[in-house]
Amino acid sequence: MKGTVIKTTGSWYLVKSEKGDLLECRLKGKFRIKGIKSTNPIVVGDGVVLEKKDDSYMITKLMDRKNFIVRKSVNLSKKTHIIASNIDQAILMVTLLNPITTTTFIDRFLVSANAFGVEVVLLFNKTDLYNIEDKKNHKELVEVYKKIGYKTISLSALKDDLTKVKDVMKGKVNLISGHSGVGKSTLINKLQPDLHINTKEISESYNQGQHTTTFSELHELDFGSSIIDTPGIKGFGLVEIDKNEITNLFPEFFALKSKCKFHNCIHLNEPQCRVKDAVIKNEIAESRYVSYLSMIEEEEENYRANDY
Ligand code: GDP
Ligand code: ZN
Repeated sequence: MKGTVIKTTGSWYLVKSEKGDLLECRLKGKFRIKGIKSTNPIVVGDGVVLEKKDDSYMITKLMDRKNFIVRKSVNLSKKTHIIASNIDQAILMVTLLNPITTTTFIDRFLVSANAFGVEVVLLFNKTDLYNIEDKKNHKELVEVYKKIGYKTISLSALKDDLTKVKDVMKGKVNLISGHSGVGKSTLINKLQPDLHINTKEISESYNQGQHTTTFSELHELDFGSSIIDTPGIKGFGLVEIDKNEITNLFPEFFALKSKCKFHNCIHLNEPQCRVKDAVIKNEIAESRYVSYLSMIEEEEENYRANDY
């Protein structure tokens, strides 16, 4: 029998079978997955095969994952913690004010999602608060992201009808992300009032050096969509992306890379760099290049810190 893991507690797994039954399962002893060093072998979103033994169900096989996301690894252990798998898209809620979501934050999120193979929809919330200048900034930002292929939605979760959001969420497993205060709970409560999910971010310090005590959960919504409730998804971990990969995760940089003089150009100080040229000509948004530089810099710092 096949099913999807919708909740885990560490030792028990709640699986929804293809027929729609909810089954509590255990993992068959010595369950190992080749090639993944993770603290948790089976995660929310996983497709699994079940076998009934006496009166209980055992997970005997993990189906291939379309993608999975990890938490920024805890320094003390080299293992990563997988937060969830098989996510169709992340909805990144951003606000220009109350609080400010920076383009650096947005771009980091997009890069990480791209690395994990998760599509992102940018949801600009709190448009009811915009003054004339905010409206102008908003328009420019939407242009920046539309131009490089991202879907965007702009609304007030508080005051507007949510059809636009429901339409992009329908039939998909969604992750709702964004800084604290951007309106995640407001949105989710309005989409499905009886759902009490945890939108609070787990602080880094709380998590430092500890095993995770909170687990993800998959919830089905009445309008035909699901959301994954996860601890700590404000930003995906960027741990395993190196400098040369980061360039490829900015789609508009990647598109021009073959036109740089050097095939391995990372668009910093190399001569005849088509990407830098495009930034100067305003074909690539300066904010994107600034985010890129900050990520490269951070990667170099991490590299030095781990290299003593
Ligand atoms: P979360 O931390 O992302 O879950 O954010 P909340 O949903 O708790 O929202 C934080 C605050 O922003 C609350 O006071 C909400 O009422 C408010 N808020 C959420 N969406 C909107 C919106 O579209 N417009 C305005 N003006 N306020 C909003
Ligand atoms: Zn270049």
